[in-house]
Amino acid sequence: MAGNNVVIIGGGIIGLAVAERAARAGRGVVVLEKEEDWALHQTGRNSGVIHAGPYYKPGSLKAQMCVEGNASMRRFAVENGIPHEFTGKLIVATSEKEIANLKELERRATANGVPTRWLSAAKAHEFEPHVSCVAALRVETTGIIDYGAVSRRLAETAAERGAEMVLGAAARAIRSENGKIVVEHSKGVVRADVLVNCAGLQSDKVARMAGLRPAARIVPFRGEYFHLSKEKEHLVQGLIYPVPDPELPFLGVHLTKMTDGSRHAGPNAVTALGRESYSWAKMNIPEALGDITYPGFLRMASHNIPVGVAEVLRSFSRKRFADSLSRLVPGIEARDLTPSPAGIRAQAIARDGKLVDDFLFELGPQQVHVLNAPSPAATSALVIAEHISRKAGLLDS
Ligand SMILES: Cc1cc2nc3c(=O)[nH]c(=O)nc-3n(C[C@H](O)[C@H](O)[C@H](O)COP(=O)(O)OP(=O)(O)OC[C@H]3O[C@@H](n4cnc5c(N)ncnc54)[C@H](O)[C@@H]3O)c2cc1C
Repeated sequence: MAGNNVVIIGGGIIGLAVAERAARAGRGVVVLEKEEDWALHQTGRNSGVIHAGPYYKPGSLKAQMCVEGNASMRRFAVENGIPHEFTGKLIVATSEKEIANLKELERRATANGVPTRWLSAAKAHEFEPHVSCVAALRVETTGIIDYGAVSRRLAETAAERGAEMVLGAAARAIRSENGKIVVEHSKGVVRADVLVNCAGLQSDKVARMAGLRPAARIVPFRGEYFHLSKEKEHLVQGLIYPVPDPELPFLGVHLTKMTDGSRHAGPNAVTALGRESYSWAKMNIPEALGDITYPGFLRMASHNIPVGVAEVLRSFSRKRFADSLSRLVPGIEARDLTPSPAGIRAQAIARDGKLVDDFLFELGPQQVHVLNAPSPAATSALVIAEHISRKAGLLDS
C-alpha cells in the first residue's frame, strides 16, 4: 500500500498521532476534523490515566501497545513539557471473594512485564490511608496526564512539519478515482494515496462510507463523572481502582487524581442514546435506534440485564454513585460530588454479542480503519500511530 500522501479522518489523539508520525516521515498529510477544535470527543473526555497494562490478555495488541505506549507517552510528555505525574495506582479487593480475580490480575501483569506488588491491607494504607480493602495490588508505572494537551501538541508539531490541519471539516463521502482516494467533506474535496480512518465513535460509519463492511459495530457507552469536593480531596492520594469483572472489564467506578490536583470519580457505563449524546437530555433517536436494535447489542444486553439496570439506576442517583465510591473509600457522600463532563466510549460489539476485546484495525484498498480503540488507546496512541503508519505504507522501513 505504498502511499505518498495521506488523508486522515478524525482529529482525536490517534488521528493526530498518525498525522505527526506521517509528517515526520516526510509524507503529505491532510487531517479532517468535523469539530471546531481538536480532541473534543473521547480524547478530551477521559480519565487522563497513563495506563501501565496489567489488565490485558497477554499477547494481545492492547497488552503490548499499552506497555510500550506507557513508556513512549512518558518520553513525549517530558520532551514536550506536558504536565504529567507517575502517581502509581492501587487496585483494591474490598472483600475476600475478589481475591481470586486480583491474583489473576497479578499473573497477567507479570506475563505482560508490568511490575506490581501484592499488598496487605496495612501496607495498602501506607499509600492510601483512607482506602477500605482486604488486599491490594500496587502498580507503580501508572500515571496521569492531560490527553487534550498531548493532542494539541501533536497537532502543532504535525502542522510545523507541513501537515494541513482542517477543522470544521466533516467527511461526507469517500470514493476511489484514478488510483486516488477522494474524500468529500464539508469544506471541500481531498485527493490522497491513502486514507486513515480514526473517527472514533463514528469509525464504523466512516468505514461503511469507504465501502467496507466491518464485522463489528460501534456501540456508545456513556461514562458519567463527578468531581470530589475540596474538603474530601485528602481521602485520595493517587489512583484507586476496584478489581474489574473479567467479563465486563470497563465497569467499576474509580477515583483518580487529575493533573490539576482535583479528584475525579467515575465513570459508570450506560448505553448512550446517540453516538455523541453526552446526557440523557441529548438524544439522537434515529442513531440510537440503529445502535440498540443491532443484533450484537441486543445479545449483549440480554445477557447483562441486572448489571445494565444497576448502571442506569446509578446514573440517576448521586447517592448510589457515592455508595459505590464509598466501598473503596468510606466517607464519600452524595453532597461531596459535583457533576463533571461525561465521556462516551466507542466500543465495538460483534454480531454474536461479544465485546471486541482487542484493538481492531481493518485494511481496505489504500485504506486503514481503526475500528476498535477504547481504553488504553490514549496511553497507546503513539505506538498505535507507528503501527498504522507502517500498515498504510507511510514509513520507509
Ligand atoms: C470515559 C472514558 C474514559 C477513558 N479513560 C482513559 C484513560 O484514562 N486512559 C486511556 O489510555 N484511555 C482512556 N479512554 C480511551 C481513550 O480516550 C480513547 O481510546 C482515545 O481517546 C481514542 O482516540 P480516538 O482518536 O480514536 O477517538 P476520538 O478522540 O473520539 O477522536 C475521533 C475524532 O473523529 C472525529 N470525527 C468523527 N467523524 C468524523 C467525520 N465524518 N469527519 C471528520 N471528523 C470526524 C470526531 O469529531 C473526533 O474528534 C477513555 C475513554 C472514555 C470515553
